[in-house]
Amino acid sequence: MVFNASFRYLDSCLRVDKLDIETIVHEVGTPAYVYSLATIRRNFHRLTTAFAPLNARLHFSVKANGNLDVLRALSAVGAGFDCVSGGEIYRVLQAGAAAEDIVFAGVGKTRAELAYAIKSGVGWINAENIGELAHINRLAGDTNGEAVRVALRLNPEVTAHTHPYMATGHGAAKFGMTADVIRGLLERPEAYPRIRIACIHMHIGSQLGNTNATLAALEKLLALTKDYPWIKTINLGGGLPVAYRFNETVPAPDQLAEQLSHRLQGYDLLLEPGRAIVADAGLLVAETLYVKRQAGQTIVVIDASMSELIRPALYGAHHEIVPLRQMEGDTVTTQIVGPVCESADVLGADRELPQLEPGDKVALLTAGAYGMTMASNYNARPRPVEVVVDGDRWWVSRRRETLSDLTLFE
Ligand SMILES: *Cc1c(COP(=O)(O)O)cnc(C)c1O
Repeated sequence: MVFNASFRYLDSCLRVDKLDIETIVHEVGTPAYVYSLATIRRNFHRLTTAFAPLNARLHFSVKANGNLDVLRALSAVGAGFDCVSGGEIYRVLQAGAAAEDIVFAGVGKTRAELAYAIKSGVGWINAENIGELAHINRLAGDTNGEAVRVALRLNPEVTAHTHPYMATGHGAAKFGMTADVIRGLLERPEAYPRIRIACIHMHIGSQLGNTNATLAALEKLLALTKDYPWIKTINLGGGLPVAYRFNETVPAPDQLAEQLSHRLQGYDLLLEPGRAIVADAGLLVAETLYVKRQAGQTIVVIDASMSELIRPALYGAHHEIVPLRQMEGDTVTTQIVGPVCESADVLGADRELPQLEPGDKVALLTAGAYGMTMASNYNARPRPVEVVVDGDRWWVSRRRETLSDLTLFE
């Protein structure tokens, strides 16, 4: 069985590219994140190819996966980066990327973060409110007086068809500025002499199941920019969807590219994809600790939890779960749960799985995006190891946290 170009069973063992995952986790233990650089590069290439006719520049959304080796690999193939905090800018710079390839976004940038971004020389700041513009203007003066290139984030007042926690473009959302506010700014660009407003930005949400909301929002954006022809760049954010279920299909990126192409004639396009580049390039491996059969249920307790992968608990997200070794025999309806003291700590409800026994390892698929970046130390659980695979090589990219890491700052 083949899950994607990197993850498949060979001789009944789950492989990542040329390697046997069981062999890797035998050395590094569980829970463990495993990422395939080959799939990350392939996904990036697929998007750059799809959007090439639009002259698009891709900024990988670091909040999806901030692993340094992942950032290095993407930088090496020409990606820019979309950062939403000073910490993400720091990580991208540590990975060796150029500051000018960074877009700094975020609904509540502190003055310290803005100062750090401006001093570092980031390529763009996506501003989300008027107060922020005043800060940027003043901080630019304090630094070297050079104008800072700014995009204004439009709240297009369009509701994306996605999970409510992933929608960011409706009018009541905290994100961006409404069109009338932006118009006020574009009428008086001289009010901020050290800011060069050069782009309108929008990001209406994640995991957008169709392109309708994007196109509706783009109409509003274009209605705005047509009155200000000196705006030559449009940033459409991220949100390209990913298939999380075996039988799921999502619109291909070329479909969106085609729908955009005639609308965006004459503009430079920026995009900020996150999940579409890394989600299916990663999985989380866990070991079965206990099997309980009670109240008519089969409950399998694994050593991964919502602390390592919060998406099921936070969004009701679905991750396919498969055994590392293909097993014969009947399947049974199984509740895959974590050890954390929360009823929401269920990683897979009602899954048809072979009869797992303690020691059997499973993989939670499509966990390369918003997995480790959302991991926490809840229940004082050390965060898991991150393994990176490049062809037939693998290495520990970030070691498993230890007990002493848990008291590092005390
Ligand atoms: C989260 C986010 C993205 C990336 O979203 P994906 O769904 O992972 O592509 C892009 N831009 C902004 C502003 C974001 O907040």
